[in-house]
Amino acid sequence: MQFPIYRSEAKSILSSTTGFIAQAGFTHSLTPARNCTFGCTYCYVPTMGVYGGLKREDWTHWGQFTTFKANAAALLRKSLKPHQIIYCSPLVDPYQPAEETEETMPALLDAVIATPPRVFAIQTRAPLILRDLERLRELSSRTTLRVGFSITTNDERVRRLYEPHCAPFESRLDAVRRLREAGITVVATLAPVLPCNPEALVHAAIEVTGRDLIGDPFHVRATKSAGATTREAGFRVSLKHGYEQWHDPAFQASLTLRMQNAAHAAGRRFAIGPEAFAALAQTSTT
Ligand code: SF4
Repeated sequence: MQFPIYRSEAKSILSSTTGFIAQAGFTHSLTPARNCTFGCTYCYVPTMGVYGGLKREDWTHWGQFTTFKANAAALLRKSLKPHQIIYCSPLVDPYQPAEETEETMPALLDAVIATPPRVFAIQTRAPLILRDLERLRELSSRTTLRVGFSITTNDERVRRLYEPHCAPFESRLDAVRRLREAGITVVATLAPVLPCNPEALVHAAIEVTGRDLIGDPFHVRATKSAGATTREAGFRVSLKHGYEQWHDPAFQASLTLRMQNAAHAAGRRFAIGPEAFAALAQTSTT
């Protein structure tokens, strides 16, 4: 699928963190582009509007184009400090489809390799990250590198409904395996948990990562009255296909419990919220 790709000059590249990401322990976030060409139906980012650094056309046409920060690497080279704990990215997948031709991440990784922060965490759902495996290996020899890999459902029909431009379940598992084989620490992020077989999803994620799991049900206003929440398009998919209960707080509580029990039976933990995401910000992980 082709997307219009724009470029603009940014004033800065690292932002001091607030809210969820700060609570998880990150000091800075790095966002290489505005708007994400994965365009997931439920994506929380467009619901943040201007507070997510977006322009109106971004949240009204989410996923239909993207704007890269053309001077991102030059800015990053001047901004990196050894004490920083950096999350890349809360507002876009750094390996979104448009990154395949834009190739922003290799230059950003070169900057981070040259001046390593204390922790560098990449959050993605894209096997495209394997393109940069050698750089990731180099970075992990110089500092604490964490890859959070989003695995949202084990049901391919569901995946195509909610996130049709994202990689299939098996491709993601394979990407995690290959990162792990290369010595990269990968933590599976089951967030948001889409309709799935929860126990099977937990087992698959533990099997490929060998680690504790991070998760989160859909954000809903009943339990989160302000801030980023599930995009309307995601609710519409759930309504149309009979998955409304996956947005229901009581169902979500029982879902979380089932996933915790499944992880526990496998000798691992499944946790939600900033305490869980803190695993990506720490220099040691389980
Ligand atoms: S990959 Fe992440 S940032 Fe991109 S559209 Fe999907 S949920 Fe949003």
